Amino acid sequence: MFNDLKGKRILITGSTSGIGLATAKAFARSGAKVGINSYREESCLKAMEQLKPLGGEVAYFVADVSKSEDCQTLVNDFVERFGGIDVLINNAGGLGGRNGLEAITDEFYDHVMNLNARSAMMVTKYSIPHLRAAAKASGQTTSVISSGSIAGREGGGPGASLYASSKAWLHSMHRNWVKELTKDNIRFNVVAPGSIDTAFHSDKSPELIAKIGSTIPMGRFGTSEEVAPSYLFLASHACSGYITGQIIDVNGGQMAP
Ligand code: NAD
Repeated sequence: MFNDLKGKRILITGSTSGIGLATAKAFARSGAKVGINSYREESCLKAMEQLKPLGGEVAYFVADVSKSEDCQTLVNDFVERFGGIDVLINNAGGLGGRNGLEAITDEFYDHVMNLNARSAMMVTKYSIPHLRAAAKASGQTTSVISSGSIAGREGGGPGASLYASSKAWLHSMHRNWVKELTKDNIRFNVVAPGSIDTAFHSDKSPELIAKIGSTIPMGRFGTSEEVAPSYLFLASHACSGYITGQIIDVNGGQMAP
């Protein structure tokens, strides 16, 4: 279906588990050149074991994308390895802890915003010259896709106001980037998952997960494999070349905005 992804150079931040890893696997199966990333080498090596047999060409890049200097190094290293970037997926992110308003400190603010907002902005910033060049060379659109969240639309769970806001921030940044950079043939879209069964929910008991699941129209959490194809669709010029500035909700009917 996504035949034009073969040979495309795809950088995916935060891709050693959960949604990022499932997405990296799907791109590898499509014959793409995939760069995975985590801040821990051990996690990268474990993910590589799963990715290697699937096809494509996969390499790993250790970088803590909550730090701007690592974002620049990540992009440089990926380009050195693959010669350019066709698709950037900003997936690294996480809750970063829970704190009600009165418990929020400057340190907590920086931690959550650096992990979810600064990371995506800085990796995108350093990728733009390469995405622009790849679009010019191919005559097709290149693409930035970020992992947003249902929380960015509905405010987030208890103590997750900063996380939810960082995702709303990201949703909005994308719409601004559309206005600034569509002239360069770069598309910007967001995949906004609902409750997906990953390590993200490791602070919840099985009882709480079942209770939340029962409130979702589909009656359960989604799987990473059910989210991954949306990134492939948005990465494929053939499938989505005229789609930009959109937020694709993958949430089992949890919310239909
Ligand atoms: P996950 O914890 O399995 O994956 C997070 C990935 O990011 C891991 O590979 C981890 O190593 C990496 N990572 C974390 N901090 C990093 C850093 N500083 N630098 C580089 N890599 C880092 O969780 P997931 O659920 O697969 O989350 C993926 C994305 O989806 C996140 O942006 C998350 O906010 C978003 N999301 C998840 C859900 C959900 O219900 N699981 C819902 C909405 C949005």
